[in-house]
Amino acid sequence: MVEEAQARGSAAAHQSVDKAADGTDLLAEQPYGHHHDLASNGEVDGYHTGPGRSSFSQGRWRPGGPPPVSDAQNICGLPDNSRAQQEEADRGTKMAMRSLDLADLIIQSANGRGLETVATLENPEPREDPDPPGSTSSGFELPEARAWCEKHAAVASFNSCIYGLPYWKRSTWRGELRDLATLSGDCRCGIPRSRHLTI
Ligand SMILES: [Zn+2]
Repeated sequence: MVEEAQARGSAAAHQSVDKAADGTDLLAEQPYGHHHDLASNGEVDGYHTGPGRSSFSQGRWRPGGPPPVSDAQNICGLPDNSRAQQEEADRGTKMAMRSLDLADLIIQSANGRGLETVATLENPEPREDPDPPGSTSSGFELPEARAWCEKHAAVASFNSCIYGLPYWKRSTWRGELRDLATLSGDCRCGIPRSRHLTI
């Protein structure tokens, strides 16, 4: 990405945060504090995030894996969560909140510098009807995320396979990006949904 940016005459920097590889943790005080400073100080011009909250995953509702810790009606945690399960849900919620905070800082910074705003969130669409209780895999269900998306209303919705991934999975970007809606699109694979790779 850095090479691509430089080839187009832009400066770019890359910082990896990989808990599995080196123990760095986006939920810890650092490096998030550093990212917060960069966003506040006008050193980040564009932002895209898909908050990592595995506790939202649709896979939680399939047999054989860890059980769900939240649903569409209890987005911050199921009433009968164990302490450990609730802590897991809380970690995911905190990650999503930090994503929203950084997006707001970057938008404010761009506005203050007279730049076009680039800040988007990526997640599956929330369920329209949370009743009956069941799976959700969308951080957009969080009230703070819903409020953010109402304020930054551009939307792109697409099947992941139109961008070269093997999944039918429907994903949505919401936020601030010029012509964002033009990224929308439906599967063109010519095969049924069930013959895509399941995740
Ligand atoms: Zn497809």
